[in-house]
Amino acid sequence: MTFDDLRLSKPLLDAVHSAGYETPTPIQAKAIPLILDGQDVLACAQTGTGKTAAFALPILQRLSARTSAQYKNGRRSGARKIRTLVLAPTRELAQQIADSFGTYGRSSGLRHTVVYGGVNKNAQVRILRSGVDILVATPGRLLDHMNDGVIKLDSVEILVLDEGDRMLDMGFLPDIRRILRQVPERRQTLLLSATIPPPIRELAQTILKNPVSVAVARVSAPTELVDHWAYRVEKKEKPALLCNFLEHTPYSRALVFTRTKHGADKVVKHLTQAGVPAAAIHGNKSQNARTRALDGFKSGKTAVLVATDIAARGLDIEDISHVINYDLTTEPETYVHRIGRTGRAGATGTALSFVSSEDRESLRDIERLIRTPLQPAADLPGYVAPKVIFEKTNGDTRPASRKNGNAGRNGDAGRNGHRSATGSGNRRRPRNRRRGTSSTVASR
Ligand code: AMP
Repeated sequence: MTFDDLRLSKPLLDAVHSAGYETPTPIQAKAIPLILDGQDVLACAQTGTGKTAAFALPILQRLSARTSAQYKNGRRSGARKIRTLVLAPTRELAQQIADSFGTYGRSSGLRHTVVYGGVNKNAQVRILRSGVDILVATPGRLLDHMNDGVIKLDSVEILVLDEGDRMLDMGFLPDIRRILRQVPERRQTLLLSATIPPPIRELAQTILKNPVSVAVARVSAPTELVDHWAYRVEKKEKPALLCNFLEHTPYSRALVFTRTKHGADKVVKHLTQAGVPAAAIHGNKSQNARTRALDGFKSGKTAVLVATDIAARGLDIEDISHVINYDLTTEPETYVHRIGRTGRAGATGTALSFVSSEDRESLRDIERLIRTPLQPAADLPGYVAPKVIFEKTNGDTRPASRKNGNAGRNGDAGRNGHRSATGSGNRRRPRNRRRGTSSTVASR
């Protein structure tokens, strides 16, 4: 199947081709024709499957047809009204969806914008007042604007709920219900969710009409491109292990998951003290701080991003070589979401889990879901033992190796003038990377 088989208009096909997409992903092949036909759809698909284009492309095509009451003979009377509303759980995901509408719809003549909390409302209000066809929003900020009388949803023709399971996990159901009351009954509704637990099924029954269900590759499918390793480690050993692992392992970008926001900040502190450039992204950070952290990570300035699950949800970042479960999750599906950040677009990746004695049961559940045992880290090329003692002199908590001028991943000249990553004797190189994380930029 090619994009040309999907009944998409020429401008959309051009946009898809210039984005470099050659063939539709399975979710696109299944969902695009249904959405073009005006069907309600319940889609089980996770981030990384191409789900955004699966709904954005047909929506752009339907809106371009200008068939609503606002249009007579293709001409609009009065200001633009919101014809499509996309709800997303996090600011980052909302921004990414809006960016996709921008990319695919750049010659559609349609206007879109995104609203989320944590940033000043005024700029959003200005754009909203000038009129948009497509609004992407997080529920809380959308309700704020609705309460302020800035947004009216009575012209919405297509409603999309993305990452439905995460929205419910984050407690957005009451907000969603409030929003739904303001959206016309007569509409097309699309509900996307990485998993379809019973509450999503119930929500689907109340908001979708005669939906068609589509599902793509089992949730564990992306794990096939990823090597899974487990480090047996006690809690107190984790900070030192992480610093030493990152120091001795070539990686391009590492995404580290912690259970709590406070935990994420602590990890960043440890890494920074050890000389590893790191930033945290979580819900307590201002939007500006999150954007800065994300930009630094995308540009390669910050090699390590430490995140909570919610903040990392939906992040679309290329070339993450390592996902590190600093805190293992108790939900096996969350493990799959986490490691879905690496091994993308056919590349291989490495997932590393710090497993303490209290995580044994979670580990078993994860292995059952992905149908692969996590390999013992002792077999990992370039293995670093967990029990690494930090020197505790003058309050300097850097591992001993860094104090000897080992400049770590970036291969900067250390104090002794070595370019450590490209051959200084005190850096261990991997012996035989199994399915090598070839995206190594240790000498960048
Ligand atoms: P998503 O699941 O929507 O977050 O998409 C994940 C990534 O896949 C994004 O970087 C998209 O640009 C990319 N993508 C979407 N559709 C295709 C396609 N048909 N071929 C290649 N890449 C795609």
